[in-house]
Amino acid sequence: MTASPVLGNLFIIAAPSGAGKSSLIRALLEKHPDQSMQVSVSSTTRAPRPGEVQGVHYHFLSTEEFEQRIDAGEFYEWARVFGNYYGTSRKAVESLLAEGKDVFLDIDWQGAQQVREHHPEVRSVFIVPPSLEILEERLRVRGQDSDEVIAERMAKAQAEMSHYHEFDYLLVNDDFNNSLASLEHIVLAQRQKMPHQQIRYSSVLKELLG
Ligand code: 5GP
Repeated sequence: MTASPVLGNLFIIAAPSGAGKSSLIRALLEKHPDQSMQVSVSSTTRAPRPGEVQGVHYHFLSTEEFEQRIDAGEFYEWARVFGNYYGTSRKAVESLLAEGKDVFLDIDWQGAQQVREHHPEVRSVFIVPPSLEILEERLRVRGQDSDEVIAERMAKAQAEMSHYHEFDYLLVNDDFNNSLASLEHIVLAQRQKMPHQQIRYSSVLKELLG
């Protein structure tokens, strides 16, 4: 008899831009270099920003290509965010989960709602900055944007944050190391859950129970 596969856990990690989400995810992956945690690479129709690499940061697609993939049912979830399409490949997520990986979806609240429908056991984390003042400071440090662009980003951030209560966990990122520890605890606690542990340790349990 072959053992049932150990399935990985699915996590949604959402935040307004400037909350520190990307740095937290990067630091968590660096702490676990065994590749047991993977970030799903989304597809988007927005243009690459300087330094972004095709297939690494996103799969950059034309609108036509994206719409064909929507029609073919290739997305696990997709949404229009700030005028562009963004979506998660169904095949990529399903194959990472089947390999037993913990998979992080860095997606917005609209995508999160769709994922909860197909995968009720998903655990979702929302990250917020400790204050609007700090959020604005973080958005200003990023580039040479005009006051108008900053005001627009702040409004978008507040719209995204209004969905915080739909998530299982809320992290207020006022201290990077504390937030990293909290995120790590959430992921590691989920790993110890049944039935995954029962499958992973079936031979140990068999021996223990005689
Ligand atoms: P950015 O363009 O700054 O990389 O991302 C803008 C927003 O789109 C962020 O809130 C990000 O989480 C969200 N996003 C990125 N990928 C996806 C995706 O595959 N699906 C959905 N629904 N949102 C995404």
